[in-house]
Amino acid sequence: MNNVLHDSFGRKIDYLRISITNRCNLRCIYCTTRWAPHQSHDDILRYEEIHRVVQAAAGLGVRKIRLTGGEPLARLNLSRLVELLSRVEGIDEVSLTTNGMLLAKYAEELKAAGLKRVNVSLDSFRPDRFKLITGGDKVEDVLRGIETAKKAGLNPVKINMVVLKGINDDEIVDFARRSVHDGWHVRFIEHMPFVNSAAPEDRLVPIGEVITAIQESLGELKPCWPTSGNGPARYYQLPAAEGTIGFIGPVTECFCAECNRFRLTADGRLRPCLLEDDEVDIKGPLRSGASIEELERLIHEAAALKRAQHRLGEQPAPARRQMRQIGG
Ligand code: SAM
Repeated sequence: MNNVLHDSFGRKIDYLRISITNRCNLRCIYCTTRWAPHQSHDDILRYEEIHRVVQAAAGLGVRKIRLTGGEPLARLNLSRLVELLSRVEGIDEVSLTTNGMLLAKYAEELKAAGLKRVNVSLDSFRPDRFKLITGGDKVEDVLRGIETAKKAGLNPVKINMVVLKGINDDEIVDFARRSVHDGWHVRFIEHMPFVNSAAPEDRLVPIGEVITAIQESLGELKPCWPTSGNGPARYYQLPAAEGTIGFIGPVTECFCAECNRFRLTADGRLRPCLLEDDEVDIKGPLRSGASIEELERLIHEAAALKRAQHRLGEQPAPARRQMRQIGG
């Protein structure tokens, strides 16, 4: 078997995002569709099963793993999984995307277990708005989580803000200012419309408008070097800022041509594209005792299903799954 994973368009695939649970302790309006199928404990992959998929993926050249969900910190003993995956030969980095609600509690033990970096989702500093967007009461828990993660050395801690027209777009400048005053690494993300989402399609604020708002208030954004990291963000800095500002525009600045990733859902499906419903079942074969070679074959099969690009410009993403069931 060819040892390096490529899709049928020649893109090298070396990054796997793993959703470890569909459950979440928040209910963000853009992430949750109006229906929510229940999944039992037995429906989701056990840590040992995820470990085995990662072993197979690492054998095909996957080097980076990101754990997501649902809310990954809502699953018990996440540190045990981090430790297992960090030790897989070939894996250079295990990182985490979280809403930060439980991060202050777990940051140090995650770091000790081998976690390298963390991205924290935060869409508003204002308690009433935080509540409106997420349903949660305690934005201060997220802020405490961010500070604890920094102190624990999970750096760079990146703050992801989904910009929603008429909801939090008047906080764009406040977030950008944090890159100057607090050394934050802030990333602005375009809202991706999903069929049946509780957030309507017209909430989208194009990244170009976000950039204009920041430059009008805070000065010229200079590209930083390297301008892109491992993913789709383009990075800039404001004058005198220690932190950076990243822009991720899946809708108006489609980056599918550089896509290097695929996903594993909590219920054991390989998903080649975030915004398309193609999937390959890996849970069934795992539970029937599939060999590593068989798992590698399934991973190749999933890579071969990767599309050239998503169709968000024409239509909302399909809604067989909610974002929290895919792992954004
Ligand atoms: N619970 C964790 C969190 O909040 O970061 C991880 C899962 S969440 C699905 C991962 C990321 O997806 C978050 O940064 C969230 O803001 C983003 N996200 C979810 N739905 C989105 C949408 N419709 N458009 C853009 N970003 C979205």
